[in-house]
Amino acid sequence: MHKIADNLKKVSARIEQAAHTAARETTEICLLAVSKTRSAGAIRRACDCGQRQFGENYLQEALEKQTLLTDLDLEWHFIGPIQSNKTRAIAENFDWVHSVDRVKVARRLSEQRPPARGPLNICLQINTDAEATKAGVDYRDLEALAAQVSELPALRLRGLMAIPARRTEPAQQQAVFEQVAAALERLQKRLPQAPLDTLSMGMSADLEAAIAAGATIVRVGTDIFGPRNP
Ligand SMILES: *Cc1c(COP(=O)(O)O)cnc(C)c1O
Repeated sequence: MHKIADNLKKVSARIEQAAHTAARETTEICLLAVSKTRSAGAIRRACDCGQRQFGENYLQEALEKQTLLTDLDLEWHFIGPIQSNKTRAIAENFDWVHSVDRVKVARRLSEQRPPARGPLNICLQINTDAEATKAGVDYRDLEALAAQVSELPALRLRGLMAIPARRTEPAQQQAVFEQVAAALERLQKRLPQAPLDTLSMGMSADLEAAIAAGATIVRVGTDIFGPRNP
């Protein structure tokens, strides 16, 4: 068995165990394989093992790999920072965008989404640690942004995405993820018509804490594909 197959089994077992511990169904949790910096061949090997959802951070790199993989039925998630001059290619070539944090980008994605592709699934990235240098909307601005995004015709506002600052204590990791989950619950009450069912949170180092707090998409790179070269 090759390494990626072995790693995918191990990550799936971790997800199952974490779901069991949290008294949740494994089927509620989607594994997103984060393939930034990985080759198209590595994505193909993961797909051979049944992995269908892939996350990419860098547009140009993602488009090049997509061109090499058109024979596969993959679901592509954009999870990196978005420059507003790149929204058209994102709207045309992805199924999900997790990293929306301003209305200007959301408007462009909605206007530029090809109707034939159906609505684009959107998560709003939340700045969990109020770090001025980090991407994401602050909690205090979240409801206003969500209300605006939920009105855009070619988007489906699905939920929230978070990349918390590194913490080593699982209890501390979980506390941050629980704040994100609470923010989603507030949005569900404010916007009952929006299909808000997604918490994109948890990576290789903290997916257990994220699942304990209600994650529905965990984004895993290193523990599937191995260490990234800097
Ligand atoms: C790189 C990346 C991941 C995956 O991180 P790993 O630690 O390699 O699992 C998840 N989410 C985002 C937004 C990333 O940029």
